Amino acid sequence: MFNSLSDRLASTFKNLRGKGRLSEADVDATVREIRRALLDADVAVSVVREFTAHVRERALSEEVSAALNPGQQVVKIVNDELVRILGGETRRIRLAKNPPTVIMLAGLQGAGKTTLAGKLSKWLKGQGHSPILVAADLQRPNAVTQLQVNGQRAGVPVFAPHPGVQSDFEEVTGDPVTVARDGVAEARAKLHDVVIVDTAGRLGIDAEMMQQAADIRAAVNPDEVLFVIDAMIGQDAVNTAQAFNEGVDFTGVVLSKLDGDARGGAALSVASVTGKPVMFASTGESLDDFEIFHPDRMANRILDMGDILSLIEQAEKSWDKGEAERMAKKFADQEDFTLEDFLAQMQQIRKMGSMKKMLTMMPGAAGMRQQLENFDEREIDRVEAIVRSMTPHERLAPKIINGSRRARIARGSGVHVSEVNGLLERFGQAQKMMKKMAQGGGIPGMPGMAG
Ligand code: GDP
Repeated sequence: MFNSLSDRLASTFKNLRGKGRLSEADVDATVREIRRALLDADVAVSVVREFTAHVRERALSEEVSAALNPGQQVVKIVNDELVRILGGETRRIRLAKNPPTVIMLAGLQGAGKTTLAGKLSKWLKGQGHSPILVAADLQRPNAVTQLQVNGQRAGVPVFAPHPGVQSDFEEVTGDPVTVARDGVAEARAKLHDVVIVDTAGRLGIDAEMMQQAADIRAAVNPDEVLFVIDAMIGQDAVNTAQAFNEGVDFTGVVLSKLDGDARGGAALSVASVTGKPVMFASTGESLDDFEIFHPDRMANRILDMGDILSLIEQAEKSWDKGEAERMAKKFADQEDFTLEDFLAQMQQIRKMGSMKKMLTMMPGAAGMRQQLENFDEREIDRVEAIVRSMTPHERLAPKIINGSRRARIARGSGVHVSEVNGLLERFGQAQKMMKKMAQGGGIPGMPGMAG
């Protein structure tokens, strides 16, 4: 699911790589591509419109974080917006103060409600709850049996109207509203702390079905009404979700069949269109193919950025704002980049954690594996030792470091003189690069890293 959307977004961002700053035209071109990618993935038009408007506005107006380059900044904005349309924060089940907690499932026939009932009950049981399933889907001939099978697999009891007498050919009789109400009473009597009520769907939106769902809702007064939607149904998802939202006023969404290979964008629209959060994802036919839906992780997966966002976060957290500002001011004042600055930058990098680990978190790191193997983190230690062996005057004015000074510094830091030469050479390149960046007005990056 979402593979082609992921690919499209990734190639959009690739175009931003290496840009020092983004012009309005760059932003517009990027936003256009994002719009196309979302529409092609079946995301609802209204959602796409709002999404791209936000991205554009933020990309043009937001202060660029010191730790990010403009391309990364756009990725971060798109990520934030994806999280937002998916419902923001992870939303957990609201448990009733006075058990049992009543969870009602609603959705079209075939959406995956009965399967979900089994999954949810198994998961709740694993969390230490004592759930019971209630078979109030009396529409589909074998729905009750199917729920009983799922209950058995999950090790969870099932309350059904005529236990054991249904067959695939015999329509179950009885009133679903009564069954649902009796089911909750049974749960209370038997001290089950969670009741999951499975209800009937139809193949399409149907007034009678909606009335029945609304009646069950009124009868059992659920703590949660979960709307289950098949993520593969395409653009219809939005209309269906809207109809259920008006008909039963659900409290949360469950995306089922996320294991499929449909474009999935419609499912991404449901939370945004209804204003209700996605709470769970169903990802297969087995009872364990079930997960709590985390909008942030899903956005991450869609952006297929490896762990780049954790990387960005880590960088933002450890980036010393004072230090970055000090650097920026130095450039503004056209001051020289000294060995002290060089060392300070190395220390910034160290604070951001192990370089190798960071680099492997970057997308495309596979291609850099050879370079990563060659990268020696002790390099930073050596640089530090060498710079520490210099006098303050030498650090500020490296030009004075002649042959005998180099020999003294090498002795003092326990390295060969060629390493001191190498460092001074890299420093010279970094200094040049910093000068160039200062003229371009950019915030300094991290020059001078040995490859
Ligand atoms: P209900 O009519 O809403 O109760 O839907 P069911 O629970 O009976 O599911 C309909 C069909 O979809 C069944 O064949 C399920 O095995 C299948 N199904 C349910 N959830 C998933 C899922 O997450 N992934 C896949 N691949 N199939 C699912």
